Amino acid sequence: GDEADLVPRPPVVTVMGHVDHGKTKLLDTIRNTNVAAREAGGITQHIGAYQVTTTLDGEERKITFIDTPGHEAFTAMRARGAQVTDIAVLVVAADDGVKPQTIEALNHARAADVPVVVAVNKIDKEGADPIKVRSQLTEYDLVAEEYGGSTLFVDISAKEGIGIDNLLEAILLTADAELDLRANPDMPAQGVAIEAHLDKGRGPVATVLVQRGTLRVGDSIVCGEAFGRVRAMLDDNGKALKEAPPSCPVQVLGLTSVPRAGDNFIVVPDDRVARQIAQQRAARQRSAEMAKSGRRRTLEEMFKDLEKGKVSELKLIIKGDVSGSVEALEDALLKIDVGEEAKLRVLHRGVGAITEYDVNLAMADDNAVIIGFNVRPEVRARELAEREGVDIRYYSVIYQAIEEIEAALKGLLK
Ligand code: GDP
Ligand code: MG
Repeated sequence: GDEADLVPRPPVVTVMGHVDHGKTKLLDTIRNTNVAAREAGGITQHIGAYQVTTTLDGEERKITFIDTPGHEAFTAMRARGAQVTDIAVLVVAADDGVKPQTIEALNHARAADVPVVVAVNKIDKEGADPIKVRSQLTEYDLVAEEYGGSTLFVDISAKEGIGIDNLLEAILLTADAELDLRANPDMPAQGVAIEAHLDKGRGPVATVLVQRGTLRVGDSIVCGEAFGRVRAMLDDNGKALKEAPPSCPVQVLGLTSVPRAGDNFIVVPDDRVARQIAQQRAARQRSAEMAKSGRRRTLEEMFKDLEKGKVSELKLIIKGDVSGSVEALEDALLKIDVGEEAKLRVLHRGVGAITEYDVNLAMADDNAVIIGFNVRPEVRARELAEREGVDIRYYSVIYQAIEEIEAALKGLLK
């Protein structure tokens, strides 16, 4: 469609943060305090996302929440090419402060280029220090508006229901200030599957987020390698919907198989076309998998890509056994003198084994290499890396890591 067809759509929000800082509680509280907007007698069900209504400057506004918290889901979807999130809410418990997964979540949001709103949670607790949270995050270039920065920090208690309206307002203000969220509702729908499973009674059930167009009962759709006709659509209150506009999450019944989270869906003219596309995709997927198993994105290949100008920088993810060694390695790598064109960037660093998140992050950023310093990958992370061709380099002596990367970078720039 053309520009004129674009109309505002609600922001889609993912809640991230360190374990036990209150992500699940916050998502529950937001949904429950919005009870007035729900159908009387409606039974809420977790379908992977929900929408709430709030008012800003006297205007009714909607916000869509993805209710599978955590950056695992977020990054796994991104690694599959699906970008569903417009804004990340970073939950930090005020009694516990900034923790490793807080920073990990922040790095994931940044890698996705998604603005962050900070929810400083548990302010009802003794020992809560919301000011400290602000100053801690300043070290990571996340500066609160009241300190001259551009990030909105909101003090909340998910448990006591304090500050929830302020948080919703901050999300909308951030969306309005930093994003221009528009979509054309008058076209065949497109979007992403957020969650899917096989239901004994209802068959394949998928929650999809509509990103453009309007999805309607009776539409023929293809979702990844699954296809079918939309038999019914339900919202998170179990209410049947006839149509779903942009940013609306709905549970869809009528697919003939179960898609994967992160699969894109499109509406096509009829069932025959849907079947054809799905079958073509399945065939293409099989050959891509075969091709991939013989391919690895090695450090050497990355340097070649850099040299050819195919990529502009080399991104590293550094994992180590203790924080001291991770910092030392990062410092040393960033100090490698390659003239003015230092094309090295550390995307993420952390202590502990290499996990699936790290591999997903490397995949999401096509040219990232993982450096393991005295650590090994978890089994599933290793399998994923092998399957997807992500290069993991292991070192146990700092100077070896430095030498190898320095040699390559210098070779590259000569
Ligand atoms: P998640 O791991 O980030 O999803 O954290 P949860 O939502 O499961 O919360 C972890 C624990 O903190 C639970 O026992 C919650 O009841 C508690 N909790 C969450 N928010 C608050 C809050 O605002 N105040 C207090 N006192 N406890 C909270
Ligand atoms: Mg949780």
